[in-house]
Amino acid sequence: MAIETALPLLRGKKVFVAGIANEHSIAFGCAKAFRELGAELAITYLNEKSKAYVAPLAEQLEAPIFLPLDVSQPGQLEAVFEQITQQWGRLDAIVHSIAFAPKDDLQGGLVNCSAEGFATAMDISCHSFIRMARLAAPLMDEGGAMFAMSYHGATEVVPNYNVMGPVKAALESACRYLAYELGPRKIRVHAISPGPLKTRAASGLKDFDLLLNEAVERAPIGELVDIMDVGFTCAFLAMPYARRLTGSTVYVDGGVNIMAWSGDNPVAHRCG
Ligand code: NAD
Repeated sequence: MAIETALPLLRGKKVFVAGIANEHSIAFGCAKAFRELGAELAITYLNEKSKAYVAPLAEQLEAPIFLPLDVSQPGQLEAVFEQITQQWGRLDAIVHSIAFAPKDDLQGGLVNCSAEGFATAMDISCHSFIRMARLAAPLMDEGGAMFAMSYHGATEVVPNYNVMGPVKAALESACRYLAYELGPRKIRVHAISPGPLKTRAASGLKDFDLLLNEAVERAPIGELVDIMDVGFTCAFLAMPYARRLTGSTVYVDGGVNIMAWSGDNPVAHRCG
């Protein structure tokens, strides 16, 4: 079933999307959905190397703001918000679609994860969203919406997800606390939990293809999700129609999360 969109329900809205690496990125699906519904975009790229891949996408999205952002570099996030403030003076939504863990810490099992690796994963994949929320909130004087990408491994054990499980659990909790603190300002905050998608970040997970196969077998809807499914969910949640929704983790996974385990023995995939 094709999703037909034409109504510019978000015309004039200003949206900052962080985390596009290439055309497969979940962030690209989010940016595209917001743009198709009429929003204007601020887009960032990680570094000079990734700029070559992201620049044509930013052009396709007609993004008037296009800047570097490595959240581990002091001052870069502030510089993005400085530009947004100067150019737009306001903001309606942000999408945080950023995650990182050092390879050895990600692939060696949680029990072997170093303190440094844990801290890095937590800073880039979770605390940077809190920093983003702090900078965005003053620009959302008419209310707004904030989204951070999580995964089902936050609440249940997904073999090979390792350190990212506790990190995503912290991210989902952070969304709830931010929703609580920013609610009086009509700013709504959601964790979005997509089903598995073949992206650059996912390629760092061992046996990711097994997750894809299992997702399609277990999904009540019987299909894998795509990046536009995630994007249109965020776009809907940013609309006034969703104004009483906040703080929840919204699964975009074809229903996989409601299913009891029925696959082969997950202990066989255990590492560490
Ligand atoms: P991706 O590789 O396309 O996106 C990850 C992004 O994180 C990249 O754009 C990368 O540049 C950015 N990033 C990493 N370190 C950064 C830093 N220091 N500063 C700024 N940006 C940085 O992969 P994706 O799958 O689209 O991942 C996006 C989000 O979705 C992540 O939070 C991921 O955990 C989450 N997610 C992915 C899946 C999946 O199956 N692919 C499922 C659920 C959730």
